[in-house]
Amino acid sequence: MINLLKSQPAPDCLEAEKAKKNGSYSCGDVLERLRADFHNKCYICEARGITNINVEHFIPHKGDKNLKFDWNNLFYACGHCNNTKLAQAKYDDILNCLDSTKKILDLIKFHINPFPKEKVQITTLQKNTTIENTALLLHDVYNGSTPHKIIESENLRELLIQEIRDFGDLLHGYFYEIGLSDEDKEAIKNRIKRKLSIASPFTAFKIWIIKNNEALKQAFGSLLD
Ligand SMILES: [Zn+2]
Repeated sequence: MINLLKSQPAPDCLEAEKAKKNGSYSCGDVLERLRADFHNKCYICEARGITNINVEHFIPHKGDKNLKFDWNNLFYACGHCNNTKLAQAKYDDILNCLDSTKKILDLIKFHINPFPKEKVQITTLQKNTTIENTALLLHDVYNGSTPHKIIESENLRELLIQEIRDFGDLLHGYFYEIGLSDEDKEAIKNRIKRKLSIASPFTAFKIWIIKNNEALKQAFGSLLD
């Protein structure tokens, strides 16, 4: 989970659908706009190109039409994460990735050792119920909470570990590949930059790899802003 920005203004159709008896919040270009704003990633797990898209109401609408059709309350999630979040009432109170005043990566640390069968480690950096709930949700999402979801999360971690390995290869290449010209190094640095962008999958983990290592921070810290 990382901070994101939502495009404004809201799609026109939402107001019109809200006025109807059985209106739909997936009207017009809502889904395309969500896909673009969330960079085609689930906002919770950061898997990219998800095949099971859920439009999530960040604050459950419970029949409230204002919440149901509020553009700022519609989030792009995968079925696995949406389901995990719905399973526990406390997950209604989590950090909002669209709130730029709460920097998620200053509040929660993301880590996985990039080896088979490793689990995700989520650490809170401040004591606060909302932050702790977010960390628990992320822990459940990445490591599984029911027999069904344990298998789903194992598949998710396989994608995550592959992405971290690819990222590690780039970092190794940058420092240790023999005979690189300045141009070659710049090209690798550009690829590292793309891997750290919000559009890349599992960015939170990759940013934390940089944040956690002084030499990497010196070389690539400027790419994090
Ligand atoms: Zn997800």
